[in-house]
Amino acid sequence: MSARTSHVFHRNARLQPPIAVKGDGCYIVDADGKRYLDGSGGAAVSCLGHSHPKVIEAIKRQLDAIPYGHTGAFSNEPMEKLATHLAQAAPGGLDKVYFVSGGSEAVEAALKMARQFYIEIGQPSRHKIIARRQSYHGNTLGALAVGGNAARRAQFQPMLMEATHIAPCFSYREKRVDETEEEYGRRAADELETAIQQAGPETVAAFICEPVVGATAGAVPPAPGYLKRIREICDRHGVLLIFDEVMCGMGRTGHMFACDEDGVAPDLMTVAKGLGAGYQPIGAVLVDTRIFEAIRDGSGFFQHGHTYMGHPAACAAGLAVQEVIRDDNLLENVNRQGAALRRALEARFGNNANVGDIRGRGLFMAIELVADRSTKETFDPARQLHAVIKREAMERGLIVYPMGGTIDGRHGDHVLVAPPFIVDQSHITELVEKLGDAVDAALA
Ligand code: PMP
Repeated sequence: MSARTSHVFHRNARLQPPIAVKGDGCYIVDADGKRYLDGSGGAAVSCLGHSHPKVIEAIKRQLDAIPYGHTGAFSNEPMEKLATHLAQAAPGGLDKVYFVSGGSEAVEAALKMARQFYIEIGQPSRHKIIARRQSYHGNTLGALAVGGNAARRAQFQPMLMEATHIAPCFSYREKRVDETEEEYGRRAADELETAIQQAGPETVAAFICEPVVGATAGAVPPAPGYLKRIREICDRHGVLLIFDEVMCGMGRTGHMFACDEDGVAPDLMTVAKGLGAGYQPIGAVLVDTRIFEAIRDGSGFFQHGHTYMGHPAACAAGLAVQEVIRDDNLLENVNRQGAALRRALEARFGNNANVGDIRGRGLFMAIELVADRSTKETFDPARQLHAVIKREAMERGLIVYPMGGTIDGRHGDHVLVAPPFIVDQSHITELVEKLGDAVDAALA
């Protein structure tokens, strides 16, 4: 008998999705025994695949010891150890860690930290946030307010706070033919300079962006020099730089943090998805000592907090995930299999007249579908091509993460591919074969 009822009020419930009953490495098994290769780790979450015995054992051990103690009264061992691990791994001396339960909560905390920092140092006029047009930072009202995805914002106007949105860094669509990648990166970054000038530098608290854009655009790396340039612009105007690494961080791109590849460190960084790897809900904000000390020496504490922050079982899961990644050399596998995935995608889709771009880093890749490759014209959004691809892939036993992005009112369908870090060549082959068949069927 199916466990499905009509009581779940989630966006996808109306589609009556299959009921997942078992995890098996890179596969999920549904109630009918059908196996699905997890080609996207959910939304780039399940970096160790499903039912990893070491992670499950660590969670069980923690639950047997002490499942919960409020952080207002207690610390706990896995939280202290995970904070130490993150602090040691983070770039740019981001050695203070604030735990929350997911990505949106991490973004909320980071925005509030940035604003409180300026209050503590006597610059309360700095409260504005600048973000990018093509961005997603979460669905809670603060995170939604800074995100630039028009479709997600439409029903909730007016926003709780208004953010300014500058150009995305999206080289395939926005780069002019007469400019180099570097020139394009500089032009895109210089919009930040203009936006800060227009807002008034003394009113801007922070600029937030994803180093490699995830769900909204599909694994889009920054143009060369872009992150360095925005770092310089932020420094020049005393604006804090927040990197949202909720999706692209924690090893997904082949580096521990996506910004490591560009050698640019932010003042605050948010992480989530791959931190708990799907085993537990957890997120964190990594912050530099300057911000921490300003708050500590000012009012004494950050005016924020959540009931489940630093949850012992969530931190035990996060710690075990990091231990497995280290012990099994999985970042190396992300780089090796990421290169294999890129080659396989290029071989399968490189000559497809409806594939306009193949991009990404590590095991964070995407293809973008276009009606016309030369003009980059997108498919009619009413066709919902991304949804058709998702359905065709599921029928073939493959999970990918297709989206119909909204870019300044224009829609582009893309398919995000982000398999677990434990994939081998046979998984890559199966993934690309099934995706190819699903895309062919959707375009037919
Ligand atoms: N920031 C980014 C970059 C994300 O991709 C997401 C989730 N897709 C979030 C924030 C929000 O995370 P969560 O869904 O865990 O609240």
